[in-house]
Amino acid sequence: MNQSPYILYSDGNGNIFEDTSLYAVGREGWDAFPVPAEEWIELPAGGNLYELPGRKGIGIDVKTGGMRLCEKGWAVAAFIPPAHTGLYLAAYETMPDAPTLPLFCYTASGWLDNKFYVPAFRIEQDIRQEFIGYDETKINFGVDHLLTAYPNNRLVKHLAENCCLTYRCPAARNLFMQRWECPIPTSPACNANCVGCISFQPEDETIVSTQDRLTFKPLAEEIVEFTVPHLMNAPFPIVSFGQGCEGEPLLMWETIRDAIIEIRKHTSRGSININTNGSKPDSVRALCEAGLNSIRVSLNSAQKHIYTPYYRPNNYEFEDIIESLKVVKSFGGWTSINYFVFPGMTDSDREYEALRKLIRDTDLSMIQWRNFNIDPDWYLGHIGVTETPELIGVKQMMDLLAEEFPKLKFGYFNPPIERIKGNYEMDFAH
Ligand code: SF4
Repeated sequence: MNQSPYILYSDGNGNIFEDTSLYAVGREGWDAFPVPAEEWIELPAGGNLYELPGRKGIGIDVKTGGMRLCEKGWAVAAFIPPAHTGLYLAAYETMPDAPTLPLFCYTASGWLDNKFYVPAFRIEQDIRQEFIGYDETKINFGVDHLLTAYPNNRLVKHLAENCCLTYRCPAARNLFMQRWECPIPTSPACNANCVGCISFQPEDETIVSTQDRLTFKPLAEEIVEFTVPHLMNAPFPIVSFGQGCEGEPLLMWETIRDAIIEIRKHTSRGSININTNGSKPDSVRALCEAGLNSIRVSLNSAQKHIYTPYYRPNNYEFEDIIESLKVVKSFGGWTSINYFVFPGMTDSDREYEALRKLIRDTDLSMIQWRNFNIDPDWYLGHIGVTETPELIGVKQMMDLLAEEFPKLKFGYFNPPIERIKGNYEMDFAH
């Protein structure tokens, strides 16, 4: 691109317009910044645009070059689809009575030559959550098939009725298309209290969780019953404990251990993964002894003083999550962090140093650069950040880490065993 796109605004009724008197800019931390023209890409398929009530967009005046507000309507942001990482947040000024925004990511956006643009790039070539890849007919057939095959299985019922047909969870929809990564929620409870928890929000909060938390404790038999056929038959199969519709799976480690042992009696195919807050390294060790292949630990920051006010942990410390990564590595397993990217925090010089230390100390296998689904003002307020720190730039930080740690992989999804043990750069055009 040889120029910045124009700013977008909404009329408050869901109609979005461009304002050609202002160029779009981006936000990092609390501040607005011009976005280098080469960092804008067309909004990928599956992306959405949101109007931001009670907020006015910030742009650069095309005549004066000065920054000013767009007074024509509410600000607009983009929700970019999985496999893409956003480099700047939407830039706006928040009015005093503005409502807290729901749990989605709010990437900068603009308009030029009849197209929507976002400052982002594709970090992952895996197509498992590609918007156009979902076939409703196959999904509905799969739902009927599994519900008929396992009529008394509460977990299959939950995954079919809630996850697939209600929340339209991409992972659950892949299960019912009998391909790739299969989700296994197990825990109704959690030992953390994340500010932006997507499965539980306190009554007094104005926003709601995007899905409800599981209400029962599955049995190992219920887990094994549908996961063994998935591992035996699906292409590039992964079964993953730890999903958005539950609490912390490590609180159910005994059931998960028993399920892994039973699964591996039937098949050695595929990868058994756990997405977790990493709070219980001893339980992680027991799962590795049972046959766990990979772990993904979620974190908003590699700095304890930024991590703790967000996760608000019960009876565990930041150091425990580091230990969990080390345990899996000591068993030869694959270790990823589910790294919530927040421009202006992720790319601060102090975060960069802390992340380098985490990678070195744990010999980390992979960073999954995930867009942080949270209201930026609300998040910064909760972690007590009042001004924008010294910044490196998200893309620049990635380049520096890739150069320093050539074995470290970047992506967005848990890799199948074919990538972990085989050709990591394999072609995904299947
Ligand atoms: S660890 Fe997960 S389930 Fe627990 S509070 Fe945080 S986001 Fe919610």
